[in-house]
Amino acid sequence: MNHKLAIKSKRILTPEGVREGIILIEKGEISAVIPANAAHEGFTIEDVGDLLVMPGVIDPHVHINEPGRTDWEGFETATKAAAKGGITTLIDMPLNSSPVTTSVNNFHIKTAASMGQLHVNCGFWGGVVPDNLNELDALLQSGVFGLKAFLTHSGIDDFPNTEAEHLRIALTLLKKYDKPLLVHCELDEAIPEAELLTKNPRSYDAYLKSRPASWENKAIALMIKLCRETGARVHIVHLSSAEAIAQIKAAKAEGLPITVETGQHYLFFNAEQINDGATEFKCAPPIREKENNEQLWKALKDLTIDFIATDHSPAPPELKEIGTGNFQKAWGGIAGLQFALPVVWTAAKERGFTLEQVSKWLSTNIAGFLHLHNSKGKIMKGYDADLVIWDPEKQFIVAADDIQHRHKVSPYIGQQLTGVVEQTYVYGQKVYDHENYLHLNAGKILLKK
Ligand SMILES: [Zn+2]
Repeated sequence: MNHKLAIKSKRILTPEGVREGIILIEKGEISAVIPANAAHEGFTIEDVGDLLVMPGVIDPHVHINEPGRTDWEGFETATKAAAKGGITTLIDMPLNSSPVTTSVNNFHIKTAASMGQLHVNCGFWGGVVPDNLNELDALLQSGVFGLKAFLTHSGIDDFPNTEAEHLRIALTLLKKYDKPLLVHCELDEAIPEAELLTKNPRSYDAYLKSRPASWENKAIALMIKLCRETGARVHIVHLSSAEAIAQIKAAKAEGLPITVETGQHYLFFNAEQINDGATEFKCAPPIREKENNEQLWKALKDLTIDFIATDHSPAPPELKEIGTGNFQKAWGGIAGLQFALPVVWTAAKERGFTLEQVSKWLSTNIAGFLHLHNSKGKIMKGYDADLVIWDPEKQFIVAADDIQHRHKVSPYIGQQLTGVVEQTYVYGQKVYDHENYLHLNAGKILLKK
């Protein structure tokens, strides 16, 4: 950590734009960004030519599942996949680990489980469930970044969904700490379409109809109301319904402290392409039609949607019903952590968006949301040397063998993507370099006090 490193490139993405220069790194921090011809005695130089140097990707929505469901993913595999994908910081969800992160004790069990296997940085979300309201104050003090709640069944029985009355209490507490409540926004109700899926469980169309946009729209309306009532920060995770954009836009215009993320799979895939039985695409809320998804891009453009997360939520192939293609029974969750950067860039580039916009959606805006904006998400003096060095022009086809997640199941297999990650640095240590892992365990546990 003590050695002085200089990374030289023709393309460094700085807050002032992409430019040629040298990044000086000392003690894991960027000590200066200097012109390419400036002196840098005493620094070991690494010239990466015209590869793009960008702030490391931050993924605020990852289900690592350890301890308890380490056979689904785990810190070792998730943080290695992250490093290979240019992701330098993850924030882990309070489920589907066992125990779930709903008390200080459980939080300590989780951080202990991560020891010795963090190859990138990792922070944690706590959880709100109906019976842990007394635990929340201590949990927030112990360093979680905020709390997550569900308005519908989470898929995990020991993480039951909350009602508005629980959330009012959680929000009041969160306001004290200026931390956000993350909400899975679907308010389910009995609908006749549910029968379609029972009759034809392999049909993607039946699955899509079984979780309509109206569920999301209603849940978001409720959260806007609670945000207005309490004045606390509300964050809508994985927005899929474009119909909800208008009410979010109005809430933001009103000055409510509401933020929104969408998932990369809603931006890359469309319902029209998903074959019956292709349960690797099952997630909730579901991937909707092309027309809906193009509206999400528009909302990203004007930042009604603040940023993009992976919602990486893998499960073993049997639980994904890969053999049977049964959408009704399959675990709802998409594995895509490793491919966040090329997936978003491939789809963004096609629509004329820039590298600067992609870097905001995958790093800078997320650092702001996490209140890490003074240390992460930018290449400038005083910031952590968490960097991704990649080739935004090179293409590759996702092969199962290249996947570092525990299970080689992902809807991205076979997709041609643009953007190859060549090197990843965490606190100035080269963790990943052209298919090789170098300095492992470079990641830190991030606590938010
Ligand atoms: Zn999730």
